[in-house]
Amino acid sequence: MYYAGVDIGGKNTKMGIVDDFGNVVSSTTYKTQKERGYDAILLEMISNINSLCEEAGFDINELSGIGIGVPGIVNSRAGLVMSCANLNWKGVDLAGDVKNLTGKECKVCNDANCAALGEQRFGSGKNFKNLVFITLGTGVGSGIIIDGKLFEGLGCAGAEAGHMGIQVDGDKCTCGNKGCWEEFISAKALTEQTQRAIEQNPKSMLVEICKDGVSGKSAFIGARAGDSVAKDVVQKYINYLTYGLIGLTNILHPQAFVLGGGVANEGVDLILPVKNLLNEYIDNNGFYPYVDVVGASLGNDAGYMGAAALVM
Ligand SMILES: [Zn+2]
Repeated sequence: MYYAGVDIGGKNTKMGIVDDFGNVVSSTTYKTQKERGYDAILLEMISNINSLCEEAGFDINELSGIGIGVPGIVNSRAGLVMSCANLNWKGVDLAGDVKNLTGKECKVCNDANCAALGEQRFGSGKNFKNLVFITLGTGVGSGIIIDGKLFEGLGCAGAEAGHMGIQVDGDKCTCGNKGCWEEFISAKALTEQTQRAIEQNPKSMLVEICKDGVSGKSAFIGARAGDSVAKDVVQKYINYLTYGLIGLTNILHPQAFVLGGGVANEGVDLILPVKNLLNEYIDNNGFYPYVDVVGASLGNDAGYMGAAALVM
């Protein structure tokens, strides 16, 4: 059977037709152009699903369902997008509207939850029924899977690990709280940590590395080149990241953490020290079993593949 998965982003929308085994038979990416408004975005999405079905050699009527990921607060049980600041949507019945226009079953979910499901079904989380997925991008997204199912909390408003507070009097976060984990582990936070280190250490190699601009990659480049200031930035970042993972381990003790997003592209230089530090803690306290830490493997396809999995 075939399913359509859609990942609507503030800038781009990605979609694909996926089979039960996670094979993508056709896919496309296009500009969301959010300023056009909800109705136009909805109609173009359905038109593009039609085209992808044609490309794959069948009619949209043969689809078994449509799953959609949205970057906001989504009541997935009701199919409603409660609020999505990125797209200026508030209280829209996305699942109902898609069903009315296509006659297909439609499920809608938060985009990070979709990506978590994608990695768990078809990506590097395939071997785990209990995992926490964390994306280390401009912001921090997360999804929790327990016994193979998404855990979303009351009103599907939970599973937001990035807004777990780790410093009572920390910086103000976009969510209104202070000292959220996101303020320490997002790519934006890592960039700011690197910038501060450069200002305090004008002789560091980071100055040369960052002459065209600082990014979430700069500190890792410096650390690989042996710069002690850069190593220190990376180590602190790893400490912040692991500190939150320890908190989540104490609550959920999942089989694995799957790390995605830009910073996770550092691969083994990030994953291995985090995994070692986390399991050193587990070992010292006898909180067996060990928890695996792996990099996400589906990249930008995780969102729409997981959205398709919502209707499988
Ligand atoms: Zn927050």
